[in-house]
Amino acid sequence: MKSILVTGAAGFLGSHLCDRFISEGWQVIGMDNLITGDLKNIEHLFSHKNFRFYNHDVSTFVHVPGKLDYILHFASPASPIDYLKIPIQTLKVSSLGTHNMLGLARVKKARILVASTSEIYGDPNVHPQNEEYWGNVNPVGPRGVYDEAKRFQEAITMAYHRVHNLETRIVRIFNTYGPRMRLNDGRVLPAFLGQALRGEDLTIFGNGMQTRSFCYVDDLIEGVFRLLLSDYSMPVNIGNPDEITIMDFANEIIKLTGTDQKIIHKELPEGDPAMRRPDISKAQQILDWEPKISRSEGLKITYQYFQSLNKDDLYKKEHKSFDAFFR
Ligand code: UDP
Repeated sequence: MKSILVTGAAGFLGSHLCDRFISEGWQVIGMDNLITGDLKNIEHLFSHKNFRFYNHDVSTFVHVPGKLDYILHFASPASPIDYLKIPIQTLKVSSLGTHNMLGLARVKKARILVASTSEIYGDPNVHPQNEEYWGNVNPVGPRGVYDEAKRFQEAITMAYHRVHNLETRIVRIFNTYGPRMRLNDGRVLPAFLGQALRGEDLTIFGNGMQTRSFCYVDDLIEGVFRLLLSDYSMPVNIGNPDEITIMDFANEIIKLTGTDQKIIHKELPEGDPAMRRPDISKAQQILDWEPKISRSEGLKITYQYFQSLNKDDLYKKEHKSFDAFFR
């Protein structure tokens, strides 16, 4: 039986990855320190014989008993408001945490896939963004803590590949959404859906002409799965190239939810990229992958998920583990 360690297992993407590998019949070891993750996302796996969970911060030394064939390093705060609140943890998990994971992969002779991000392209001057583009990142801006840690992560991963012949994979993840996103994580999709559900005005930052391209979580997971099992070690973009302005996106949410709330404008945060859209030709070519789920389908599923949460979830500012961590 194949075994895989998933860091960030209680997070949005990590928990979906755990589900996927359990359904493939693999042994899954989840690890998370629960700063931004939530055990609710994986509690359905606790009774599964092939699932184990460790509450551990991967920025400190990591020991996992037994054999390990694969590692997925997905632990990291991933929302701009999270990096502002916990910038040092954000820097540490993708630098020290990645170093620990690469060391673990060497000891276990495991293949490792690290979660990188479209943020390594910064506020891009090339559109759409292909993997050859080096990016336009401000190291000392508010997003620098995430962007530079992820850039360091890519560099150290390639160094381990080149020096130690480690089997490495790098996925550059573009905006992804779906069930298990935190309603209050500050990102645009849960923000708008949460506002619609609470009967609040929808907050557009800036004039709303900035663009993003949203990928439904199942498509993303399939891309990661294929990349892990491929023999390609350079970075690969995974995302949905269907690009939309934030203004048009707000209007789609208004239509979907039937809310009669207005759109209000707030200040554009510093360093907010003006446009973002993945060039996915590499994924198409190497992985025979492209997204299958349209935004209208994916939004419906995600809206139903948020509707199914209880009132507490809808109004709480932060989940319990975040508060506990900083008490
Ligand atoms: N945004 C917005 N209103 C919100 C939250 C976000 O207009 O309530 C904008 C934000 O300024 C950015 C885009 O939506 O241009 C996507 O933001 P998000 O935080 O989801 O992720 P990003 O792609 O910037 O990392």
